[in-house]
Amino acid sequence: MFDAKSGSGFGAKQQRVFPLVEVSVADSAERAFRAPDVTAAELPLQDTRLRPLRDLRISVTDRCNFRCVYCMPKEVFGKDYAFLPRSELLSFEEIERIARVFVGLGVEKIRLTGGEPLLRKDLEYLVERLATLQTPRGGDVDLTLTTNGSLLSRKAQSLRDAGLKRISVSLDSIDETVFQRMNGVGFPAALVLEGIDAARQVGFVPVKVNMVVKRGVNDAQILPMARHFRGTGVEVRFIEFMDVGTSNGWNMESVVPSSEVVRSIDAVFPLVPTGREKPSDTSVRFRYADGQGKIGVISSVSQPFCGDCTRMRLSADGRLFTCLFAAHGLDIRTPMRTGDSDDALRRLVANLWMRRTDRYSELRSEHSAAHNHPKVEMSFIGG
Ligand code: SAM
Ligand code: SF4
Ligand code: SF4
Repeated sequence: MFDAKSGSGFGAKQQRVFPLVEVSVADSAERAFRAPDVTAAELPLQDTRLRPLRDLRISVTDRCNFRCVYCMPKEVFGKDYAFLPRSELLSFEEIERIARVFVGLGVEKIRLTGGEPLLRKDLEYLVERLATLQTPRGGDVDLTLTTNGSLLSRKAQSLRDAGLKRISVSLDSIDETVFQRMNGVGFPAALVLEGIDAARQVGFVPVKVNMVVKRGVNDAQILPMARHFRGTGVEVRFIEFMDVGTSNGWNMESVVPSSEVVRSIDAVFPLVPTGREKPSDTSVRFRYADGQGKIGVISSVSQPFCGDCTRMRLSADGRLFTCLFAAHGLDIRTPMRTGDSDDALRRLVANLWMRRTDRYSELRSEHSAAHNHPKVEMSFIGG
């Protein structure tokens, strides 16, 4: 039943580096045997730690035009790197079908990601389809997208017209030297800032900016970033550098704990904690005491939030990951392409979620010390 294939290793030609075990579910009889009766199950579905399935992150491509040092370092993701061939990518129709199944199972929030999602041709078409999804109670699905912003000034209007309302843009520094070094391809911060302005002008609310903080690389940019976006309505979220994947050379010394980020901003612009808006939110928020807006911190390393993690991830080639740090993906593309019904897909997803035990961040120190824990790359399943 379980078909283990390791995708790791470096040959003469660069291979994909995510050491993944693909879990095959081609055997319908066995799947049916293991599957719960979803129609009778109370929604939302809960995993073994009683966490509901509420969020789906969809990676629409494994490709990116950046080579961020903490995500796709160019030494690993070089020009011979073997990205997924087109035939392996889920089509928009397939993504929409899977998204519908998830929404039917209680998912209320969908985030499009990658790789760089705006590299996927005609992404607006997918946005248009997903924007119309309704929850079983008749509410709108909260659809959002995370982008590196490089193509945003060109695409903001068409994405907005397609029905996208919220957007997150990654920007690690407003200093050109620091940013261009960090993105690995010398892409100007000024153009990302133009994208952020375009997003605001066409009416995205909110526009959030994600900054991954890496000690000794861009930690001196915490305050300039806070200062730049204060009073603009844009919320900066400072993210702890995480040990996702196996190629970003992560170590604990490179992590700037969120407490340090908050202290350094608070010393200049006093902050008032406002906590998490929803228990499943990744970011803890603070407002400027003088009313000039908000910031958020995402403390996946120093203060793990696995206990409230309601997220499933779908890779661009149709594998489902129940944790950002998973080594295993469950193939949903094969059953879909070989004729499984929506009901069968529902059972497949429900079964996966109900068996979920993941809490990698809470166990991080054990994993790092005891095993060289294999993990999927972040660029493969998105943030
Ligand atoms: N390319 C898009 C972008 O950069 O926004 C979407 C995909 S990217 C993988 C999603 C988010 O993950 C980005 O905000 C990025 O900064 C974050 N990220 C990537 N690697 C990370 C790491 N090692 N630690 C923390 N965040 C990371
Ligand atoms: Fe690309 Fe986003 Fe990863 Fe940077 S963080 S390399 S922009 S996928
Ligand atoms: Fe969720 Fe896994 Fe991150 Fe914990 S480590 S918050 S289970 S994705």
